[in-house]
Amino acid sequence: MQPYDVVVIGAGHNGLTCAAYLGMAGLKVKMIERRPVVGGAAITEEFCPGFRNSIAAYTVSLLNPKIIADLRLHDHGLRLVERRAQNFLPTLDGGCLLAAEGRTKDSIANFSHADAQRYDAFNRELDASADLLRELALQAPPNLTRGFGTRTIGELIKAASLGNRLRRMSTENLRALYDLFTKSAADYLDPWFEGELVKAWLGFDAIVGNYASPYTPGTAYVLLHHAFGEVNGKKRTWGHAMGGMGAITQAMARAAIGHGVEIETDAPVREVLLEKGRAGGVVLADGRIVRAAAVAANVNPKLLYTAMVPESALDPAFLRRMRAWRCGSGTFRINVALSQLPSFTALPGRDLADHHSAGIILAPSLDYMDRAYSDARALGWSREPIIEMVIPSTLDDTLAPKGAHVASLFCQHVAPQLPDGAAWDDNRERVADLMIETVDRYAPGFKASVIGRQALSPFDLEQVFGLTGGDIFHGAMSLDQLFWARPALGYADYRAPLRGLYHCGSGAHPGGGVTGAPGHNAARAIIADLRRRLWPRS
Ligand SMILES: Cc1cc2nc3c(=O)[nH]c(=O)nc-3n(C[C@H](O)[C@H](O)[C@H](O)COP(=O)(O)OP(=O)(O)OC[C@H]3O[C@@H](n4cnc5c(N)ncnc54)[C@H](O)[C@@H]3O)c2cc1C
Repeated sequence: MQPYDVVVIGAGHNGLTCAAYLGMAGLKVKMIERRPVVGGAAITEEFCPGFRNSIAAYTVSLLNPKIIADLRLHDHGLRLVERRAQNFLPTLDGGCLLAAEGRTKDSIANFSHADAQRYDAFNRELDASADLLRELALQAPPNLTRGFGTRTIGELIKAASLGNRLRRMSTENLRALYDLFTKSAADYLDPWFEGELVKAWLGFDAIVGNYASPYTPGTAYVLLHHAFGEVNGKKRTWGHAMGGMGAITQAMARAAIGHGVEIETDAPVREVLLEKGRAGGVVLADGRIVRAAAVAANVNPKLLYTAMVPESALDPAFLRRMRAWRCGSGTFRINVALSQLPSFTALPGRDLADHHSAGIILAPSLDYMDRAYSDARALGWSREPIIEMVIPSTLDDTLAPKGAHVASLFCQHVAPQLPDGAAWDDNRERVADLMIETVDRYAPGFKASVIGRQALSPFDLEQVFGLTGGDIFHGAMSLDQLFWARPALGYADYRAPLRGLYHCGSGAHPGGGVTGAPGHNAARAIIADLRRRLWPRS
């Protein structure tokens, strides 16, 4: 008898989701997490005395409603709230765009009446593709298999049903879907809109966590990826988890534990245990062995295959692909403690107003984002960086002392590896200064209001959270690494090339973001296999 049916490497939100479903199915599950806390990139921590924040992932939308319901996350304490305004884009010359329920079109019309008139049609088109993605998120993509067994027939049926679903879309919506998978964000948005600010607002989603220019083919997909979420039933809306993102993963951990899952923290896994040519458990850094009938890996596939699975167990061609798995989001993350709310030149005032609760995007055009990318490639970071600032304490008074605030600065386009061998350790604070000074240009006095800060470079994201190359998605979300090619053609059904090993993290379909979907889908594959072939444990 194996002591466990499944051992899960890593207790990020996807590992927790996977474990909770496995526990629900009656399987005996052990999770092993390297850090002292569960949650991976979705955690809340006190980053400065008296100030707590979601220190990495900071805003919620993509978390799947089925998972919220199945894991009864609300019963386990999760409460999601909407922002009072979705986005606010100020410009240095005092203009601004405010995207908020019932007000967005008027704000767009301040710059272009034609853009405002096209906005509804644009939404209908994007919604059609987002609806499809939403449906596909909780399904394994059709997998490339060989031979004529039942597996192959199953995959053919899956491909046919996908084809049938696509057939139900109008030709124009199908063309738009194709555009979204292949075009650059700029090429996708240009025929719709003329205003720089509206294109910057929509195009920002295309470069979040995506180290690329908005003029790079394929970036439109990342825009779509950020559009398949919802908050409390409102589609394409972003919101806040009360208590921070850690509230999501703490609720998931409670759900998993409630279903009998054991969680061990402070316990890095060193390698996957190979037994009789299959995964038979894991070896911990301290030498302990945990045996199980199956192993689910919540870690980046590059980390899994280049550091945890013995090379001898892998086909060299597959290993070569995994070594070449593209990682590196080029993101820099700062948490700041603020003595007061910022007052923007574009919308002055320090009293709490709707725009303070929005995702505040400092990047007024697609050209600005393009320059930021070119700068980062040449210099290591952009002279005029792209920043989204969210001030969650405007919606949640559990995060900061009364009257004070916390803000998340999510900064795009710094080089994952600095040029000329420079080290992030030597440049982190300098770049953090630049980011804070950039906000200060839009909101004079901001810099003086910062009373504490924590800066996380791509190097820190790797060191602290185990994110290979600082990649927030566990691998670039480009066409070559998406859908049936995530993490590789032939292994998109959550089953690894090594029997008994499964992918349950963001490196599997549908990819990154706090969705829970890879964990959900991997659990389904594991349960099916264990029921078919391995049950009871032997
Ligand atoms: C700075 C930043 C901002 C982001 N902002 C958002 C956002 O606002 N909204 C959103 O939806 N998404 C956001 N994301 C993306 C999202 O957070 C991630 O894609 C998602 O959390 C990944 O979840 P996961 O469970 O797949 O992996 P992870 O959260 O990476 O979990 C993997 C787990 O494996 C553990 N691990 C690693 N190595 C070992 C080992 N050897 N042994 C044992 N355990 C190990 C890690 O410690 C970690 O707990 C952001 C990410 C970052 C980094």
